[in-house]
Amino acid sequence: MDCDAVVIGAGLAGLECARTLRELGREVHVVEAADAVGGRVRSEAIDGFTLDRGFQLLNPAYPMVRKRIDLAALDLQTFDAGVAVRRDDALAVLGDPRRAPKRLKATLSSGYLRPSELLALARWAAPALGPVPRLLAREDVSLETSLAAATVDGPLRHEVLEPFLAGVLADDSGRTSATFVRLLVRMFLLGSPGVPAGGMGAFPRQIADHLPGRITLGTPVVAVEKADDGTWRVVADGASWSARAVVVATDPVTAEGLAGVPAPEMKGLVTTWYAADEPPTAERLLFVDGRRPAGGPRGPVVNAAVMSNAAPSYAPASRHLVEVTCLLGAEAPAEEVARRQAGQMFGCGTASWQELARHEIPRALPVQPAPLVTRRAVALGDDLFVCGDHRDTASIQGALVSGYRTAHAVDRALAG
Ligand SMILES: Cc1cc2nc3c(=O)[nH]c(=O)nc-3n(C[C@H](O)[C@H](O)[C@H](O)COP(=O)(O)OP(=O)(O)OC[C@H]3O[C@@H](n4cnc5c(N)ncnc54)[C@H](O)[C@@H]3O)c2cc1C
Repeated sequence: MDCDAVVIGAGLAGLECARTLRELGREVHVVEAADAVGGRVRSEAIDGFTLDRGFQLLNPAYPMVRKRIDLAALDLQTFDAGVAVRRDDALAVLGDPRRAPKRLKATLSSGYLRPSELLALARWAAPALGPVPRLLAREDVSLETSLAAATVDGPLRHEVLEPFLAGVLADDSGRTSATFVRLLVRMFLLGSPGVPAGGMGAFPRQIADHLPGRITLGTPVVAVEKADDGTWRVVADGASWSARAVVVATDPVTAEGLAGVPAPEMKGLVTTWYAADEPPTAERLLFVDGRRPAGGPRGPVVNAAVMSNAAPSYAPASRHLVEVTCLLGAEAPAEEVARRQAGQMFGCGTASWQELARHEIPRALPVQPAPLVTRRAVALGDDLFVCGDHRDTASIQGALVSGYRTAHAVDRALAG
């Protein structure tokens, strides 16, 4: 017997599961297919820039982040609490009056704060700030149905909220669970998201540091088998491990193949990273596009930002890093179309932007339809377990909590 438990996959869920098992006194080993830990949360260095594998932010208000992560060590560089909205006539800026009082004047004059829609939106959002159990106990419907029922139906919804949420949810269909969206809104109201000074990849590396010598990289697992003596065998090309328990902490599609749990539909994102000599804006804000051509769909860009304004460590001195993110459907939007739209959103030329990398991630997030299920079974029986964001919620919080509760389930099972 090599150890008490083998964890397959060193994404956030697998790492948190392994770390918790160790804290519980269990011998654990992690087997990861890629050449580094982090799964969907990784960074790379190109020409002195730090690029995350797809634009993403860490919200320090996530309960599991507060409980388990040393945020001070990550040196989080935060975005401003607000959003910039490209309109046909101007750029509007809306800020959270509590955290960005200097933006109050701009927010009030943005044209988006019509009393009737603001009141309807406040009524819609109110459950997000109450107790979470009460929020989860409410009847859940799709975001579209829920906003319509609350009579939120004006420019604030269609030009600000929906474009902003499309990037956060990787979905612009309105089919996402309203309860899930309210949980995210709660986090945005409580915390200012940002990125670690060393890139998003520094965050899973911090968890991996608790597992010295217990992670094998570059080794895709091909099978999980029950041996004659009742132990589990985790099989990779040219290597195998035996253990009393196995945790499949891969992405949901691989988990379906290894453990037989049906994978949810996945949503895709594509981020293009550009180097610029001049910053297109001085704002540390996320930019969204409120325009919609008459009768036509919106442009492909769901958000754009000058990353290095919020996170100076992401770019070398005197250079600037821009991210442009689109939804990834059956086909990726053309780079030049997204670049042109991003230029319009910032109000600048883009001819001198140099493309550094393009990250197409077809399986970025599992769908979260209504009614929301926040806790799916992780114990599959016979000491086989599965964890990941698809067992909890489609987020960093969901992945961490899934790993943590699975570790406790494994520990209970091993204790008999
Ligand atoms: C572009 C993008 C933006 C995002 N933005 C946000 C955001 O702003 N806020 C937020 O909360 N969430 C965001 N998310 C979601 C969040 O990153 C994920 O929910 C979370 O990282 C999932 O972690 P996981 O451990 O469940 O799965 P994964 O990260 O997918 O980890 C699975 C691991 O298993 C490994 N693996 C797969 N097959 C095998 C095999 N056969 N053998 C061994 N190992 C294997 C993989 O290499 C991977 O390391 C974003 C995701 C993406 C992609």
